[in-house]
Amino acid sequence: MTGHFLHGRGAIYRGFLDAHVHLALIDPGQLVDGGIARVIDLGGWAPATPSRSMPDIAYAHQFLTAPGGYPSQSGWAEPDWCSEAATAADAAAAVDLQAAAGASVLKVTLNSVAGPVLNTEALAAAIGRAHELGLPVVAHAEGAGQADRAFAAGVDAFAHTPFSEHLADDLLTAMATSMTWISTLDVHGWGTQTDAFDLASDNLRRFHCNGGRVLYGTDLGNGPLPLGINRREISALLGAGLTTDDVLAALCPRAPLGLALADTRVTFIPGERPRDPDEFTEWLGSARALTPSELEVLE
Ligand SMILES: [Zn+2]
Repeated sequence: MTGHFLHGRGAIYRGFLDAHVHLALIDPGQLVDGGIARVIDLGGWAPATPSRSMPDIAYAHQFLTAPGGYPSQSGWAEPDWCSEAATAADAAAAVDLQAAAGASVLKVTLNSVAGPVLNTEALAAAIGRAHELGLPVVAHAEGAGQADRAFAAGVDAFAHTPFSEHLADDLLTAMATSMTWISTLDVHGWGTQTDAFDLASDNLRRFHCNGGRVLYGTDLGNGPLPLGINRREISALLGAGLTTDDVLAALCPRAPLGLALADTRVTFIPGERPRDPDEFTEWLGSARALTPSELEVLE
């Protein structure tokens, strides 16, 4: 991953992406000043009045879940943020509702720790309908066996690196050939060591080693996370065996999950890219997302 160097002032990259955010739970106007040019909203958000300071957005709109399933009982999700499906017909209709609301990605939840999960027929129908409409499917998989189930059903991506259990090597190898994982390591403890952080880091290390595609994502809106590049997420990615080049690739994919996100900003980082990983993490933390005219002022 090579950035374009701006007259000795700093490096320019394709706009940095946070592939897992919840704009309805944060002040999204602050993201561009924190270096984030593009986001994928994975539940709860619907287009409001466009604002100049918003990043480029692809979104899922409602969470597709089982009746009473996560996150409908979580307390943080508004009542109209979930679309609940008991049958295959319900599930296909729910996907159509999201597409009609402008969604370009489908979010399904399979969280057996927090309540009932979509049954096999409803899950298959949701994925089938989403793929017919050209929507990639991102799953929140939590609880024993749910990641395996989601993968077998054909989801394209995980909203979180699996963190409930150690995934077997043969399963990880198979997942690495076709799936994308959105990292979200730091959400497990926000800098404090937790079992979920250790499990996820180990799964991500082996997924990445096997060639699996990783996107930087933070689950922004879920707990005390900075509005912009999260240095702790970067450190966690480096800790899971990604090189600094791999981290940049996870931040600036051309068409993440095949989505045609608008590209109205680049990400600019003042100064030269450091070789030392700790200094690299600090350096990324000073990133800003700039429009072409804002960049011109710098030149
Ligand atoms: Zn989330």
